[in-house]
Amino acid sequence: METKAVLPVSPKQTILVVEDNEMNREILTELLSDEYNVLQASDGFEGLDVLRENYQNLAIILLDIFMTECNGFDFLARKREAGIFDSIPVIVMTSSNTIEDEIRCLELGASDFLAKPYNTEVMKNRMRSIIHLREASSMLNRLERDSLTGLLNKEFFNLQAQSLFAANPELKYDLLVCDIENFRRLNDRYGSQECDEFLKYLARQLSTKIPDLVVGGRIGGDIFAFLFEHQPLPWTELLESIVEEDKLPGVTIKYGLLNDVDTSLPMRTLCDRAFMALEEIKDHFKVNLAIYDEEIHKEQERKQLLIESMENSLKEGHFHVYYQPKHDLKNDAIIGAEALVRWIHPELGFISPTSFIPLFEKNGFVAQLDRYVWEQVCIEIRHCLDIGFSIVPISVNVSRVDLENPNLAEEIIALVDSYKIDHSLLHIEVTESVAEGNKEEIVEILNKLHDAGFMIELDDFGSGYSSLAALTTLQLDIMKLDTSVIRNASEKKNYSLVRYAILLAESMKMKTVAEGVETDEQMAALRVLGCDYIQGHYYSTALSKEDFEPYLLEHQSANDDSFMGRFF
Ligand code: C2E
Ligand code: MG
Ligand code: MG
Repeated sequence: METKAVLPVSPKQTILVVEDNEMNREILTELLSDEYNVLQASDGFEGLDVLRENYQNLAIILLDIFMTECNGFDFLARKREAGIFDSIPVIVMTSSNTIEDEIRCLELGASDFLAKPYNTEVMKNRMRSIIHLREASSMLNRLERDSLTGLLNKEFFNLQAQSLFAANPELKYDLLVCDIENFRRLNDRYGSQECDEFLKYLARQLSTKIPDLVVGGRIGGDIFAFLFEHQPLPWTELLESIVEEDKLPGVTIKYGLLNDVDTSLPMRTLCDRAFMALEEIKDHFKVNLAIYDEEIHKEQERKQLLIESMENSLKEGHFHVYYQPKHDLKNDAIIGAEALVRWIHPELGFISPTSFIPLFEKNGFVAQLDRYVWEQVCIEIRHCLDIGFSIVPISVNVSRVDLENPNLAEEIIALVDSYKIDHSLLHIEVTESVAEGNKEEIVEILNKLHDAGFMIELDDFGSGYSSLAALTTLQLDIMKLDTSVIRNASEKKNYSLVRYAILLAESMKMKTVAEGVETDEQMAALRVLGCDYIQGHYYSTALSKEDFEPYLLEHQSANDDSFMGRFF
């Protein structure tokens, strides 16, 4: 059977004629209905009603000026007041051809002015070109703007800001960036639709509440940037008033401010700086605004130096593995140690892992560093075995980034096997946060390691991010109570959290290690509560391998030969 290609019929555009003279209305409808769907209204009020119902489909409005009920001027004023109809063009048609009326109409937002009697062809051509112009500009608008919030997208925000700087070199500006904390979690909790609504609300609130705003942009999923004229503002009150209480319970917004921006710098650098300020308060519970200053600048430079030198330091052996002993609370015997990395930087000297591990977790370098640490630990264990020390199990830290490698279990097993070390001599420490997000794959890796004979320790328990999810999904052997839990308990003389944690661990057949134990008083309390093992300055700080080996030897005599078997 022969088939014919059928051209799609282009849908007619819809227009609105607002005219109180019935005959004129009908004539116009007759003239235009071959090209358009024509809606009619017999006065300004009716016109506004039709507009409200159909504004999403209206291509243009033809408006009579002199009507008895709500004339054309009123119609234009009310249309403008509503705001959302701005993009619909209006051609005003009237027999009055005074220049004052024409100016007034144009001032009220009309696109063009046609005097009656009109020439049909002139009118139709003007309509087409105005509609075309509007479509072209709305297309551009769509490219420039984020469709959800209506703010400029990142590129156009940067472009517009730079051209403003160039056009007004005498003006001073401030830049505010804001970020919603844990937006991913809020999405899980409230659903994407509600969170989208919140983004729109936030963009609207910030756009309207920041005085002298010049340009605003959505420069990331939940990240906005606003450029405004430099001025002192009551920031605390202003930012507190942005999000109404109960709008989205649990939401926290962090702001970073860059005052009197250096307009000679690229916009990206300026946004980065405002962001650096914001990053400083990411985990601060009560602080929501940070202002970029010299201190932040220096801190950023230091971080930059660390990042620039990390690879070389790894090659040159500037990272050292230290060992912090773990002791049995009952008989003081050493039953294990944790491998902790230290960076002896050629320029900056000793650097604590708390200031570089989070940085390396962000840029992914921690995976390389951890692999190096694990290998150093294997070398040390092999060395001790070779010289006849009864080595204790050594635990290594495994960060979340390591667990993104789906072959991690196989790689660790291969590494340990290549040194012919029994799997029971290496323990794996993970924090609870590993149980969040990409759960299944991570659970699989850890369970594979557990099944291969590695002990799994849950690190930093009670440090504030406890979700307890890890306890139910992972095969865990040991719970490590975080330093902060022990410190808080002894400061407040209230060990109930420690007691519950130990009971919880017992009920799940896990042993407990208390970290950060320093005093006799802490030791006494932990003994009463039935904690199994202690890691802390009470016994020893982390030791270099040169110091660890004699320590091991010295405490070996305190152990009987079967200590390894007793531990596990
Ligand atoms: P962590 O795994 O919870 O390690 C225990 C931290 O508590 C260590 O800090 C240790 O020195 C400290 N500590 C132990 N006893 C006491 C005490 O009695 N008092 C006090 N005030 N502190 C004590 P460190 O070595 O600074 O490590 C901090 C964190 O850095 C570690 O916490 C771990 O999360 C991370 N880290 C250290 N080495 C590595 C590594 O090789 N790889 C990875 N991924 N993370 C590491
Ligand atoms: Mg640890
Ligand atoms: Mg810990």
